[in-house]
Amino acid sequence: DKARRHRHSHERYVEGQDEQHLRQLMLIRDLQEAVDNGELWMAYQPKVDTTTGNVCQFEALMRWRHPTLGFVPPDEFIGLAERSGNIGLLTDWMLDHVCEQLSDWKRQGCHLSVAINLSASDVIDPGLSMHIHELFETYGLSPDQLALEVTESAVMQDVDAATETLMALSQMGLTIAVDDYGTGYSSLAQIRRLPVNELKIDKSFVLKLDTQQEDLTIVRSTIEMGHHLGLKIVAEGVENSASAEILSHLRCDYLQGYWIAKPMPAEAITDWLDEFKPLSLSAETAH
Ligand code: C2E
Ligand code: MG
Ligand code: MG
Ligand code: MG
Repeated sequence: DKARRHRHSHERYVEGQDEQHLRQLMLIRDLQEAVDNGELWMAYQPKVDTTTGNVCQFEALMRWRHPTLGFVPPDEFIGLAERSGNIGLLTDWMLDHVCEQLSDWKRQGCHLSVAINLSASDVIDPGLSMHIHELFETYGLSPDQLALEVTESAVMQDVDAATETLMALSQMGLTIAVDDYGTGYSSLAQIRRLPVNELKIDKSFVLKLDTQQEDLTIVRSTIEMGHHLGLKIVAEGVENSASAEILSHLRCDYLQGYWIAKPMPAEAITDWLDEFKPLSLSAETAH
């Protein structure tokens, strides 16, 4: 009886697992097709400079509509691509796609800057900086047009190799941000040794900033410490005006979130910029 009960619970467990596992195998199998068949695209989400209220940059975020499974979130397929050794495929497509997009915008008279997300294996790839350099030549871009976002955990997997790659890219003139800051285990003392320009405070600390005292404390001290170390601070996940005001008050340098705009397809960006009115945040009156 005990054995049967055990087997039963075991089977149920495996059933759910199987479905999940099958989906993962499908997704991994279909990554190459996604690239080849044009199922991927990039969405662009603006960041606003709190001192001017103007858009200073867009973050490029990958999107995938699978022919049978529909929209697959990047939090699912990026991790799978990383663990199955396929992330290079996506990164190569993304780099080329973003650079081409930047040159298209340039032709339309729009000199924009885009931040891209890199995975751990990208950051330790010794060929990455040369590859980006070549793309700049091909598409006629300048280094101020591209910025990098890397997570603490990606860098800490192999600090020496990551430092080398990031150093080369930093010397090319690219700015580098530590993404999802606060969710990893690294200290600012460790991060300080990397060629990093910005800290991007994770949205988990920002989403409820207007009501959660603890989040406010964490965000305030992160901004203070970051500034003391000469870093610019970005807050992601700004969903309401109250949080935007607080962040501006705390002298956070850049804001990003649904309150400003959700990620948008490239085609929508120039129209959106035309409509955009600089934010008026009341940092000057408070301190
Ligand atoms: P991330 O780089 O930390 O990006 C921020 C995520 O927060 C994005 O989710 C964005 O859509 C979402 N977000 C922005 N503002 C708000 C807000 O106000 N409220 C809420 N609730 N969410 C907001 P997304 O686009 O689903 O991307 C998830 C993650 O996937 C990214 O996190 C990044 O780690 C990864 N990713 C996306 N594109 C790429 C890529 O091209 N390459 C790599 N390596 N990773 C990527
Ligand atoms: Mg990011
Ligand atoms: Mg982030
Ligand atoms: Mg994230």
